[in-house]
Amino acid sequence: MPPVNAPYRPEGLLARPLHARVDASAVAHNLARLRAALPDSDAPRLWATVKADAYGHGLARVLPALRDADGLAVLHLDEARACRQLGWNGPVLIYGGLYSPADTLLLDTPDLHLVITHAAQLQWLAQSPARERPAIWLRFAGDIHHTGFCADDYRAAFEQARQLAARGLVGEIGHLNHYARADEADGVGQADAYFREVVRGLPGPVSTSNSAAVLGHAGLAAGTQWVRPGLALYGASPFADRSAAQLALRPAMSLHSQVVGIQRVRAGAGVGYSGAFVAPATMDVGIVTCGYADGYPRHAPTGTPVMVAGVRTRLLGRVSMDMMAVDLDPIPQAAIGSPVTLWGADGPPVEEVAMAAGTIAAQLLTGLSARVPVALAGATR
Ligand SMILES: *Cc1c(COP(=O)(O)O)cnc(C)c1O
Repeated sequence: MPPVNAPYRPEGLLARPLHARVDASAVAHNLARLRAALPDSDAPRLWATVKADAYGHGLARVLPALRDADGLAVLHLDEARACRQLGWNGPVLIYGGLYSPADTLLLDTPDLHLVITHAAQLQWLAQSPARERPAIWLRFAGDIHHTGFCADDYRAAFEQARQLAARGLVGEIGHLNHYARADEADGVGQADAYFREVVRGLPGPVSTSNSAAVLGHAGLAAGTQWVRPGLALYGASPFADRSAAQLALRPAMSLHSQVVGIQRVRAGAGVGYSGAFVAPATMDVGIVTCGYADGYPRHAPTGTPVMVAGVRTRLLGRVSMDMMAVDLDPIPQAAIGSPVTLWGADGPPVEEVAMAAGTIAAQLLTGLSARVPVALAGATR
């Protein structure tokens, strides 16, 4: 496990045992797994979504594992530049588009693909001083209604874009949709029909599928030119009712710590702030150095799964800033220094921890805080 970035130091020399590991070979595996889910003939190309620093895994760490992607998708233009600085010369799709006319100054590298979410952005492009001409993707507001053109405005936007293209100010014009309910069994049918109706007859490539759509609605990608998975690349399941293992995905991030204290707690005594857990009988409680300032969810309740010395046990009481308590009843052999896995390949899946805490895997993965050192495993280069 070679260190990749300060402040990681080889294990054992860590001042504090809490650290994350990112397994790049898992990302390469998941990319191949997603490709295998695409239609055989006329398979769409694949944008690997690496926004939010590759969902918290670190763009620099995972980029070598994504060499086989056809493009990278990021949120904003600074991230696109980071991809270039790391040596990525392929296409980069920018989900957030332009936030102001000045953003056009950042269009200084070839093969950028800008998602256009409102008409003013097209005017900014018309006045852009940049020499590079980005491809553009018109975003349909779809059934998620976050950004993009509604059905009534879509064709006018396309006409405006076409005029820019005719003047050589932008490249190809594509059509992009994003589903609100792709994680549900019947979540995309209507939304897809609506989108198809709106873009019917318009030339240009189409992109609709995120992780849940690629893995859960296999037919959808057929007849589209690009897919845009993110979460599944990092080995988390986008579905509440199917695990990553069932989907043949491998988790790329694991979070590790140690038991740093053991408390014998008498029946009726409280554990943690506000005594949220009360011992029903005398019991041993392990104190683990990992808290909400590390990105572990504070609202994870008693019962949230955690692995101690290879045995699955549960969180007890409130998570505090730097530590949490765990039930050592199933692990009589536990001692100070016993290894703990908060989530990941050899611990509970991050999806399970997230679900217990009332959130989703992507929030935990992207929420790992800067004070947690990260080690790279399974380097592909
Ligand atoms: C983040 C994002 C994706 C990737 O979604 P996942 O659910 O992580 O696969 C795809 N498309 C758009 C527009 C996004 O913002």
